[in-house]
Amino acid sequence: MKSESQYRHEMIEVCKRIYQKGFVASNDGNVTLRMSEDEILATPTGMCKGDITTDQLIKVNMQGEVISGFLKPSSELKLHLRVYEKRPDAGAVAHAHPPISTGFAVAHVSLEQKAIPEVISTLGGVPLAPYKRPSTDDLARTIDKFIADSDAILLANHGVMSVGKDVFDAYYTLERVEHSAHIILVARMLGGEKELSKDEVDSIYKIHRK
Ligand SMILES: [Zn+2]
Repeated sequence: MKSESQYRHEMIEVCKRIYQKGFVASNDGNVTLRMSEDEILATPTGMCKGDITTDQLIKVNMQGEVISGFLKPSSELKLHLRVYEKRPDAGAVAHAHPPISTGFAVAHVSLEQKAIPEVISTLGGVPLAPYKRPSTDDLARTIDKFIADSDAILLANHGVMSVGKDVFDAYYTLERVEHSAHIILVARMLGGEKELSKDEVDSIYKIHRK
């Protein structure tokens, strides 16, 4: 079992990577991590992910009430708590605005193209959840239809959220979403992606399951 201090350090490492990768600008984005059934570590609202320190992380319960910490938790906490409710296997949730995948979300284009074997076998597809105003219960509920089957969701006109068994896993999924969006975008500049056949996609799924 990891100590709370280890969890806090992992959170900060991932926040730094999200900022350095340009997946957020300024104060955008939020990350949470589930330490135990009713203890969530959350990033504070209104602070740059590149600058926050371990003592600025906030501990909340599954109702979103602050257990410890001197700052206010992220305004998007409801979305994160909804994910933990729906996905008992989730150890962390990350939300950011990586520019290329967010471009897809703004254009209402999902990332479900069956064109890249590694993406098919890892992400499957990244569905597009309909637009709801940020920080609302409606936005939290917009993921309900997708979250059982997807580790990453595009939020229309907003950004991307990902879930992982731990906070690094959630980060790597975010990275993979952005990378595959980049590839699809380039393919579209070159005449459009050529999707793999259904048989090939089925075989990739089968190999992956083994
Ligand atoms: Zn956002």
